[in-house]
Amino acid sequence: MKQINPSIIYPIENWHVSETEFDITTNQRSETIFTVGNGYIGIRGCLEENSSELENHTLPGTYINGFYETAPIIYGEAAYGYAKNHQTILNVPNALPVTITMDGEKISLFTGKITNHTRKIDFKNGLYERHITWTSPKTGKQIAVTFSRLVSFTRKHIAALKIQVIPINFTQADIKIESALQGAVTNQEHDGDPRAGAAFSGQVLRTKETIQQNGILGLVQETLASKLEIASGIKHSMPGEITQKTDFWSEKWYFNGSEPIEITKFISYVATTENNREMLCNELATASSLGFDTLLQEQTAFLTDFWETADIQVTGDDALQQALRFNAFHLLQSVGRDGKTNIAAKGVTGEGYEGHYFWDTEIFIFPFFVFTKPEIAKKLLEHRYSLLPNAKERARDLACSGALFPWRTINGEEASAYYPAGTAQIHINADIMHALKLYVEVTGDTQFLREKGLEMLIETSRFYMDYGDFVAGRGFVINGVTGPDEYTALINNNTYTNLMVKDQLEFLVASLTEEISTQFDVTDTEIKQWKQAAKQMYIHRTDSALIGQDDSFLTKGKWPFEATNEAQYPLLLHFHPMKIYQKQVLKQADLILAMVLQSERFTAEEKLVNYDYYEPLTTHDSSLSPATHAIIAAELDRMEQAVSFFYYTARTDLDDYHHNVKDGVHTAAMAGSWLAIVYGFAGLRIKNGNLHFQPKLPKEWTSYQFRITFQGRLIEVTTNLKGTTYRLIHGETISIFSDNNSVQL
Ligand code: BGC
Repeated sequence: MKQINPSIIYPIENWHVSETEFDITTNQRSETIFTVGNGYIGIRGCLEENSSELENHTLPGTYINGFYETAPIIYGEAAYGYAKNHQTILNVPNALPVTITMDGEKISLFTGKITNHTRKIDFKNGLYERHITWTSPKTGKQIAVTFSRLVSFTRKHIAALKIQVIPINFTQADIKIESALQGAVTNQEHDGDPRAGAAFSGQVLRTKETIQQNGILGLVQETLASKLEIASGIKHSMPGEITQKTDFWSEKWYFNGSEPIEITKFISYVATTENNREMLCNELATASSLGFDTLLQEQTAFLTDFWETADIQVTGDDALQQALRFNAFHLLQSVGRDGKTNIAAKGVTGEGYEGHYFWDTEIFIFPFFVFTKPEIAKKLLEHRYSLLPNAKERARDLACSGALFPWRTINGEEASAYYPAGTAQIHINADIMHALKLYVEVTGDTQFLREKGLEMLIETSRFYMDYGDFVAGRGFVINGVTGPDEYTALINNNTYTNLMVKDQLEFLVASLTEEISTQFDVTDTEIKQWKQAAKQMYIHRTDSALIGQDDSFLTKGKWPFEATNEAQYPLLLHFHPMKIYQKQVLKQADLILAMVLQSERFTAEEKLVNYDYYEPLTTHDSSLSPATHAIIAAELDRMEQAVSFFYYTARTDLDDYHHNVKDGVHTAAMAGSWLAIVYGFAGLRIKNGNLHFQPKLPKEWTSYQFRITFQGRLIEVTTNLKGTTYRLIHGETISIFSDNNSVQL
C-alpha cells in the first residue's frame, strides 16, 4: 500500500485547530484550515489587514454556496452534446479588511515586533480567533489585538467580526481603526493544476446599487453572465467616519489609546435576486441589535446539539481525535441546508473544483449526515430533486429517455468539459439513488420517497434502460462508461456501475405502487424490463474469485510502478490520459467501493481476492480512495492497513497530504474518516432493514465511541478492550445485530 509520512503541521488539540506562528509560505493553506462557514457563507481564514507582502501568498476568499458565474466552454474540437458552460463559484465582496494604525504606523505582521500571533478555531462554539501582540519599532508601545469571527449557523445570511484593541504599556497613542467592505474582488487564476482556477479572469461583479441607511453600508451587485445578484453589507456597533469609492465602503474611528477598544462589524450576504436589499438591511439590523455575544451563544447552542450525535471519541490517538472533530466541523460548515444548495467538493473553503457538487455528496458525505443529522441529508436529496428538470434535458442530449444527473455542477447543468472523466461517469444517477435508499432505510421517511424519490428513481432508471442494452449471451450490458476510477475511462460494464444500477432497479421495483405507476406512466412492460435488467445485469466475473473492474481491465498491461517516482504522482499531472488509460492502474477505489456499498453481493473470498489484486494497483491519487480501503481492510481483518488508510483519510487536510489544501478542504475525505470508523472499525451495514455491526478495535487504541440515529432512535456504540456495548439513548426498543447475534436495545 502507498506509504504516507505523516508530519503533523498544526498542534494536536482536542476541540481546536490553531497555529502559533505565521508562515507566509503556507499562509494560503492556513486560510483554508481556518475558514469559518455555515453551509451558505464561507470566509477563508485570511488576515484582516491588507499587506503588500502578502501578494501571491493570500487568497482573500469569501464564497456563497451556489453563487456562481458562467462562461462558455471553449473547445478546440467540439462535438455534439458536450457540456456548454463553465460554472464557477464566485469570490464575493470582502468584508474582512480592518486596518489599525498607532501613531501613524500600521500594525502588520511585517513591521514591528510580534511577540504573539495565533489563529484558532474552536469546534465547540465555532469561533475563529486571532491574537496579535505588536510592539512599535519606533516608540516601543505595545498593543494587543484580537479579532473574533463567526459565521452564524442559525442565521444563514449573517457573519460577525469583533475587533478588540488593548493598550499594554502606554496610556496615550493616536489609534486609528478603519474597517471596509471591498466590492472589487476577483477569483483565483489558473496555476497549471486543472483542479484549481476559474474559467475567467478579472472582476465579474458589477455594482448596481450602493446602500447607506441606518449605519448599514452595502452593495448590490450582479454577475456579468449568469446575471445572479448579491447584496453584501456591513454595519458597525458604533458610528464612525464613512467614505465610499466605487465598489468600496469604509468607516474610520479615532481613539487616544487611554482604554481598551471594542468594535463589532456585523456582516451580511444575501444572494437572491428579489428583495436582496431589504433582506440585507433587516438581517443586519437584527444581528446588530442582538450583539456579538448573543450570536455566539446561538452558535454554541447549535454546535452543542450537533456534537450530541456527530462526535466520535477515540482514545489512544489524539491526532486522530482532533482530525475526526476537525472533519465533522468542516462538513457542517460546508453543507447547504436550504434544499437549494449542496456540498461542494471543497465546501465553501476555496475555489478548487470551482465550487462544484459531485458524487462525493451521496457516496461519502451523505451517510455522515443521514446517521447524525438526517434533516440535513434530506435537504441534500431535495436539492438533487430540484435539478431533475435539468437531468431530464441532459438525458435528451445523450439521445436517451429519463434523466441523467450532471457529473459536476452548481446549477444543474453539466459543467464537465472533459467527458471521459465527466459525463461518462453515469454512475452518478445510481449514486444519488443509493443515497435515497439509505435515507429511506435510516429514517423510514416513505413520504419523501413517494413525493419526490420515486420520480427520481423512475427517471434515472429509464435513462439506464435506454443507455444499456440486452445482448444475447451476456444479459444487460452498460457499455461506454467510466466508473469511479478516473484512470480507466470509456469502458464497457464497469462492475461498480452495473451493480449499483442493479440495486437501484431492484429498489425501484420493490418501492413502486400502482398510484405512482399511473402518475408516471409506468407500464407493465417497463416494470418487466427493469426486473429483467436487474436479474440479467452483466458482471465481468472470471474463472476464479477475481472480478474484472470492467470488460477490458484485466487484459491490460500493468502500470510500471517501479519506474514511477514519488514526484510523478498524482499521475494525472504527469502523464497523458492515453498512457494512463491503457494500463492497469487506479486513481481510486472502484470495485473495492462496490464491495462496501453492495457488500452482500460479494463472497468473503471475492472480497479478499479482489482487495489483494486491486489495492496494489491503486495510486490513491484521489483523496476519496483511502477511506474505502480502510473500510474493506477492517472487514478483512487487515487491521494494520485499515489503521493506516484511516489515518490517511482522517488527516488528509490537517497534514495536507495532497499539497493542495490551499485550494480548499477535501470534504469527501473528511466524511471518509467518519465512514472508516462507523462502516470500517464498527462494521456497520444495513441488511434487510436491520442494523448490523461487526466491531473491531485497532490495537493502537483503547476505545472508540459514536452515536447514530436510526428510525427515530439515538444509539450509542462503544467499543473498548472489553468488547462492544450498545446503548439506546432515546427512542423505542429495537433489535440490532452484533457479530450476527441479535441484541435487544
Ligand atoms: C475524483 C472524483 C471526485 C472529484 C471531486 C476527483 O479527483 O477522482 O471522484 O468526485 O475529485 O472530489
